[in-house]
Amino acid sequence: MGMTTISKLEALADSIIASSAYSDPTSVQYKYRNPLGLMAFCRHAKPYKKCTDGCSTPKSDRHEYDPKTGLRIFKTHVRGYQCALSDLEIKCSDRSYSKVRKTSSIRELIRSYYLPDGTAGYAARFLRKALGDETITEETRIEYFMSTTEKETVNA
Ligand SMILES: [Zn+2]
Repeated sequence: MGMTTISKLEALADSIIASSAYSDPTSVQYKYRNPLGLMAFCRHAKPYKKCTDGCSTPKSDRHEYDPKTGLRIFKTHVRGYQCALSDLEIKCSDRSYSKVRKTSSIRELIRSYYLPDGTAGYAARFLRKALGDETITEETRIEYFMSTTEKETVNA
């Protein structure tokens, strides 16, 4: 029997990934090892593919990306997951250049990844179970996931 601590930020990532295309091995997200479907961004802090100010390429060619979908390409799942966590941490701690603030809801966060609205309800249910906190809803502010108190679960 051992004690395991689940990071709130990892649970948040897992809740979104579990309801995304990544679970389908034939998806481009899976092929590009990009669990959160992260896009290459332009200088306006938007996915360059969706920029309405005329950007036809990303801000930097430092990151590998797919010109057809605008999705970033990672070499391994581990690298893609690390970038997913880092993107979530920036948003939950109010350091994002996007519209998402730490006071944004889970629903608004999920919209920022261009996922269908139904994803938010699924993610909230996932998080209530993962973190054992029945108060989590689609409206929960994402700053919640930066707080240091973590749930301890007992592995029998
Ligand atoms: Zn742009």
